[in-house]
Amino acid sequence: PQPNHTLTTQEAVNRAYNNYKSTTDGSNASYIPYLEKANKRLYGIVIVTIDGKIFKAGDSDYSFPVESISKVFTLAHVLKIQGAKNLQNKIGVNATGLPFNSALAIELNNDKLTGSPPPGNPLVNAGAIATASLVEGKSLEEKWNTVIKTASAFAGRPLSLNKDVYDSEMSDNQHNLAIAILLKSYNYLYADSIETIDLYTRECSYDITAKDLAVMGATLANGGNNPLTHQNVIDEETSMRVLAVMATAGLYNTSGEWLYNVGLPAKSGVGGGIVAVVPGKMAIAVYSSPLDPAGNSVRGQLAIQSIAHDLGINIFKKN
Ligand code: GLN
Repeated sequence: PQPNHTLTTQEAVNRAYNNYKSTTDGSNASYIPYLEKANKRLYGIVIVTIDGKIFKAGDSDYSFPVESISKVFTLAHVLKIQGAKNLQNKIGVNATGLPFNSALAIELNNDKLTGSPPPGNPLVNAGAIATASLVEGKSLEEKWNTVIKTASAFAGRPLSLNKDVYDSEMSDNQHNLAIAILLKSYNYLYADSIETIDLYTRECSYDITAKDLAVMGATLANGGNNPLTHQNVIDEETSMRVLAVMATAGLYNTSGEWLYNVGLPAKSGVGGGIVAVVPGKMAIAVYSSPLDPAGNSVRGQLAIQSIAHDLGINIFKKN
C-alpha cells in the first residue's frame, strides 16, 4: 500500500495491524520443537517512544521466546566490558551474507577469504556464541545472572528463563555445539565450549512480550537510557555501536535488503519477534511467529515497513 503521511502514530500502528492481520505467509521455525508449535494467528505491534509513550495493537502482552534478539543485549554488555576495539578483533563486525547458523562463514573468515575474524559478528550464531564466551563470571550461574540482569534492565522488568524452550533447544543443540567447538579449535572461543553453549541457549530461551521488546529497543533509541525506568543501562557510545551492528547484520543474510527498503537498524529472532530502532525517536516491535526463509518474521517485517513508511522515518532521511 502507498504510504499515508497524514496518520498519527496510533493510526499507523492500527493500519499496519489491520492490513496484515490475515496474512498467513511464512512458517514457524521447525528445527526447535517448541517454536514449531507456536500459534501462528497471534500478532502484536508495540511502539515505545523515547519519552515513554506507548502505542499498541493486537497481542502486545503475549510472551514468546526472545531467541536471536537476545544477541543484541548480550552484545551491549560485552561491548561495554571489552571495549570497541576488542570486540572488533575478537568477534568481528562485518555482515557474513550467509545464514545465521552458518559454519561455512567461520571457515571463510578463518581462511582469510573475508575481512573478519572467524566468529563473524555478534548477531549471527557463531559470533553470538563467542560473545557469550566473553561474559565475565566465575560460574555458569554467575554469567547467566549477568545476561538476564542486562536484558531485564533493557526491558525495565525482571525477565526469566522459559524452561520448556531451554529444554527443547538443549535436546537438539548439536549444530550450535559444533560451532562452539570449531571456534574453540581456532582459538576464537574464550571459555569452555559446553558451558558457553549452555549460556547461549539460556540466553535464547528467556521470554519477552512485544511490549518488552519495544521498551528494549526504545532504550537503544534513547542512547542506552530506559525511557520507562530512566535507568542508564549502557552508555551512549555503546548504544550507537550496537545499532550499527544491527543495521549491518540484524536480519542475517537479508540485512542489506532490509536496510535498503526500510532504512532502520533492526533485529529479528526465530521465535517470531522483531524490533526496529529509530534513533532519537522510538522503537517498533512486532510478534508474529511465521518466518521467511532467512528466519525473519514475515508479518513483523511488513508491519514495521508499513509504519516506517507512513510515519516517514528512515535513518538516511535528511530530517
Ligand atoms: N536459539 C536459536 C539458535 O541458536 C536462535 C537463532 C535465531 O533466532 N536466529 O539456533
